[in-house]
Amino acid sequence: IKNTNPFKKLNDEIFVYVARKQKEIDELKRLELFRREFLADVSHELKTPIFAAQGFIHTLIDGAVDDEKVRDKFLAKAARSLDGLDALVKDLVALSQLETGEVRMNFERVDLTHITQDIFEQLEKFAHAKQTSLQLKSFHAGPVWVKADAQRITQVMTNLIENAVKYGNENGRVQVNFEDDKKSILVSIRDDGPGIPPEHLSRIFERFYRVEKSRSKDRGGTGLGLAIVKHILNAHKAKISVMSKVDRGTTFRFKLERMD
Ligand code: ADP
Repeated sequence: IKNTNPFKKLNDEIFVYVARKQKEIDELKRLELFRREFLADVSHELKTPIFAAQGFIHTLIDGAVDDEKVRDKFLAKAARSLDGLDALVKDLVALSQLETGEVRMNFERVDLTHITQDIFEQLEKFAHAKQTSLQLKSFHAGPVWVKADAQRITQVMTNLIENAVKYGNENGRVQVNFEDDKKSILVSIRDDGPGIPPEHLSRIFERFYRVEKSRSKDRGGTGLGLAIVKHILNAHKAKISVMSKVDRGTTFRFKLERMD
């Protein structure tokens, strides 16, 4: 049957237009909610180190400064809180730039072996203090070339290796593994630490999510490390997966495009 209604076409167009606008409004609402939640989280997180530093400094002003031992202890504590604040602000800037898509990845041919060895060197003291050994196992003794943003992928590897040491046991072992997977390289970072209980596993990539709040904060964590990792890998079209067994350890895995 031929449609004789002259308004039918106009009607359809209006319908499509309204549906599109509704979608835009929904997206704006979602963004606004995200922005508000983000701001609330951030102010909460910023308050902790600020209040702590303030507390130590005021106690010093109120007289603690006269006792040499107490003075040194409180100054060191205040400095540590401010270091934490510094790390938090740096991670926040990095994360917000990644989330708004402000950063452009600079893809080039990078050698994962070299990057990992550099990170091991940088973390040597930290690992040594925990009697943790850092090991690299690779299908190939020399360079392992992938297509990546060198600086960002270094951050990904650093965050994961640092976490493995930080949350691992004393006398632990952290192993980075490169496997040949045809067109990609499968990277894994494994520790033999206490693991992550299954109910937390799906949430650890959320910003500020911590399995054990106090323990993570004690260890100088900002709660943003894994959120940053996920975003950077996303920009590399790589998905990160995690497998963990309580009391056995945790393994993070992702794939990067080969570039031999
Ligand atoms: P944080 O700055 O607190 O380390 P992350 O985003 O890097 O934040 O990690 C989120 C949480 O995931 C940590 O607080 C910790 O509870 C948990 N986690 C991360 N890596 C490991 C690991 N290798 N073993 C056990 N728990 C881990």
